[in-house]
Amino acid sequence: MQPELGGIQVAVMGGDARELILVEELVASGARVNVIGLPVKSGADGVVIYRDPTECLMDIKAVILPVPGINEKGFLYCTLADQPLALTEELMAKIPADVPVFVGMARPLLAQMASQHRLRLIELMKLDEVAILNSIPSAEGAVQMAMEMLPITIHGSSAFVVGFGRTGITLARLLGAMGARTRVVARKPEHLARITEMNLVPVPFHHMAETLGEADLIFNTVPAPVLTGEVLEKVSPEAVIIDLASAPGGTDFRKAESLGIKAVLAPGLPGKVAPKTAGRVLARVITRLLVEEMAGS
Ligand code: NAP
Repeated sequence: MQPELGGIQVAVMGGDARELILVEELVASGARVNVIGLPVKSGADGVVIYRDPTECLMDIKAVILPVPGINEKGFLYCTLADQPLALTEELMAKIPADVPVFVGMARPLLAQMASQHRLRLIELMKLDEVAILNSIPSAEGAVQMAMEMLPITIHGSSAFVVGFGRTGITLARLLGAMGARTRVVARKPEHLARITEMNLVPVPFHHMAETLGEADLIFNTVPAPVLTGEVLEKVSPEAVIIDLASAPGGTDFRKAESLGIKAVLAPGLPGKVAPKTAGRVLARVITRLLVEEMAGS
């Protein structure tokens, strides 16, 4: 079988253990990978390591940034690099407009810089394919945290999942399969119907506050303030809240603390609990998108 990526040259800039796997997988698919800000083994077939970001971007057909992209000061997320790496305006100007730039989720600065330089930014976490596959390590990681925080088993516990999107569905199914008495809070009638079909207990949002008092465990997946101070007043101080929604989460953490409820924000679980799986998910999707790009060019 011909390697799918047939010698295409791509740049991988920074990242964490996920991008180490991504580099391996891209090379296995036939790409030539320029790398900066990641401790890949030098001399590996198909990989060239750079210290100068401008050189790293020469003649490339795609740029792959770390899943979280850049911070508010313009530095790439590089947990394994020996020095910080900035994505400057000057560097961005070197990326041709037709070259796709992959990132997990673009924070405001990256989105603004990309639009200014008319770059083709592809936000992988917005793709259902990535979000659904990533929901598996997210759900497993959330359950792992719950097991560490609770003095009781998941089996037989009273668990609530707030939100029934890509993450909420997977988490609710996992909790149900583990024997938790699982209630799922959703707002759409069709979602409430699906929750019933899954043999879980549907809770419309307007009934959430009155039922949460029975919870041992609450997982939030809604990226909006849903576990407000008023709602938290109804929650037992023995309960544990794990908020998976993107920062700042959907929980009033200050109020939770004042009520003595253990509540934590749990960002980036796939990269933390299953970097190999998460790296393979990225590789699978980026490879498919690059093959489509090559077919279209
Ligand atoms: P999603 O598929 O868009 O699901 C979001 C859910 O939230 C849907 O059920 C949606 O309901 C509900 N929702 C949104 N706004 C709401 C509001 N104002 N009131 C009530 N419900 C509302 O998103 P996802 O992929 O599951 O991701 C959920 C969150 O988790 C995101 O913030 C994502 O960044 C984060 N995430 C975190 C991790 C981690 O490791 N911590 C991993 C993956 C994702 P409707 O369908 O009715 O609109």
